[in-house]
Amino acid sequence: MSEQLDKPWILEKQLDELKAELAAAGFRGFVARQIFQWVYHKNNQEPASWSNIAKADRERLAALYDWRPLPVLARQDDEEGTRKLLFGLRDALKVEAVLIPEKGRYTLCLSSQAGCPLGCAFCATGAMGFRRNLTAGEIVSQVLALKRELGEYSGRLNLVFMGMGEPLLNYGGVARALRLITEPDGLNVSPRHVTVSTAGVLDGLERLERDFPQVKIALSLNAPDPALRSELMPVSRREGLEGLLAHFRARRLRQRITFEYVLLAGVNDAPAQARQLARLLHGIPSKVNLIPFNPSPGLRFRRPDEAAVEAFRAVLLDKGLTVVTRWSKGRGIRSACGQLAVREDGQGERKQ
Ligand code: SF4
Repeated sequence: MSEQLDKPWILEKQLDELKAELAAAGFRGFVARQIFQWVYHKNNQEPASWSNIAKADRERLAALYDWRPLPVLARQDDEEGTRKLLFGLRDALKVEAVLIPEKGRYTLCLSSQAGCPLGCAFCATGAMGFRRNLTAGEIVSQVLALKRELGEYSGRLNLVFMGMGEPLLNYGGVARALRLITEPDGLNVSPRHVTVSTAGVLDGLERLERDFPQVKIALSLNAPDPALRSELMPVSRREGLEGLLAHFRARRLRQRITFEYVLLAGVNDAPAQARQLARLLHGIPSKVNLIPFNPSPGLRFRRPDEAAVEAFRAVLLDKGLTVVTRWSKGRGIRSACGQLAVREDGQGERKQ
């Protein structure tokens, strides 16, 4: 194992890069595509088992690259079938990803950073602090591992960047991962089935919309007025709410933006705040996801009761908005929205 440490990691390679490297090393032109088929289509990262590649080539390939996916250090299941995986990164940091069964299909919730620098007040990941950005290989390795958990399942997958970290502060790593995830020679997931959730990083948003116009966008909103939002989400002091919403209005969107709203009892869950939210979203094709807060140790907020959630939702519905209440799955294993965090002792304990 240790001799693999200095080799380039195959999961960091785009197909065009691999083609160029293998051509320089004397391999025939089709070998790079064969490798991608084994690694991504068949989810097999063991060159010794690849039957359509000559033994001598397999041996050379095994010596050239590090083929190991990230190790899964721990698995936790809840009673509804949500499964959380804890991954060990090569530098001993740890991140989590979550597999969520939903109406006959699966959602894979991915992390983009180890920790998060944005420090949203209601988020366990933010409370961890920031360690570093994840590489493309570290992101696609989460997808490969979660797919492996699904065995023979070949139905629809939704991928959401809603795990640990702010994806648009790691645009380089996330964009390279998105290429590997969406390209036909890679994981071949339709970009329409991928959602990037952001706290509101406008320049990253503009790059994402330009580079991946079909990828869906979710904005973590959480408060209908700038002052409260800045209190809950310090990033809002830099990227003001009005600027973000003006951006969405100006784009004349063909697809709806999902606005996530974590309901915090007595803070942002009053019917008057729902009316304010509806006014704010006027003119933007929107879907609102209401997420009743999931308590985490050390966070000062409370979860609103069902009556308060329903009253908030009723106001938004009355104003003509599409609203979904997400009573998050995975609370029992601390993998619900806002609960992903890895403790210093390495135990897994996700964001809103
Ligand atoms: S909610 Fe998202 S952006 Fe905010 S601290 Fe948590 S992970 Fe970071």
